[in-house]
Amino acid sequence: MSDCIFCKIINNEIPSTKIYEDEFVIGFKDLNPLAKEHYLFIHREHSKNINEISDSDPAQLSDVFKAISTFTKDSGLAETGFRVVTNQGANGGQTVFHTHFHVLGGEVLGGFGS
Ligand code: 5GP
Ligand code: ZN
Repeated sequence: MSDCIFCKIINNEIPSTKIYEDEFVIGFKDLNPLAKEHYLFIHREHSKNINEISDSDPAQLSDVFKAISTFTKDSGLAETGFRVVTNQGANGGQTVFHTHFHVLGGEVLGGFGS
């Protein structure tokens, strides 16, 4: 989508620090990290949120989670642990409307039961 910043990152029209790339998915550092390690994983195909991607082509979710699995195993994050978060809509706090998954780690994360 032409006015989508994450599509622009995919097309290298906006610079980013990419940490993972395959045929379907890219991973890059979040501009405003909320943990020592904070990455965003997105499908190359534009969709606006997890409900839309689930309805239009749920196999894309497998592509993204396979990428997260490969990256976290290769980088060592899987050994120490990490968290995956996705936000949808206003109450969810979504600010970029290209489906994305936050991968947070590198330290003990607060909240969610801890
Ligand atoms: P959301 O709030 O929609 O779940 O997450 C959007 C995330 O994208 C935020 O954590 C924000 O820091 C990140 N972000 C927004 N614009 C850019 C950008 O141009 N480059 C990168 N690397 N991250 C961005
Ligand atoms: Zn997009």
